Amino acid sequence: MIGEVGLEEWLDAVALGDGYYYRCPKGHATLPPRDCCPECGGGLERRPLPSRGELRSYTVSNVSTPEYDDHTPLGIGIATFGPVDVTGRLPAAESGTLETGTTVRLAVEERPSDGSRVPVFRIDR
Ligand SMILES: [Zn+2]
Repeated sequence: MIGEVGLEEWLDAVALGDGYYYRCPKGHATLPPRDCCPECGGGLERRPLPSRGELRSYTVSNVSTPEYDDHTPLGIGIATFGPVDVTGRLPAAESGTLETGTTVRLAVEERPSDGSRVPVFRIDR
């Protein structure tokens, strides 16, 4: 979902509850972090990411690649936070009871297998 440019900085901000997206002067909103607007090429400024999003779609896989063995079954979802969509992991224990439209919060989790960080959705109950 997110390119390498600015990813670690964005994950740091999300982990601190200070996530952001980008908006150009014409009002186009975008993620992932990038240098210019993908719609019009204009400059981008950071805008606060809403703290809660709406789960739009998700899937659960019972077969995963080796780096996700410790997270199988693996839930992956897309949630809308204000004007942007974010792709994130869904905790396996929760993915069986989910419905689209569920309110989620965005967090960051470290994968035990390799220590890399990934966006994860927390269910807001
Ligand atoms: Zn634009």
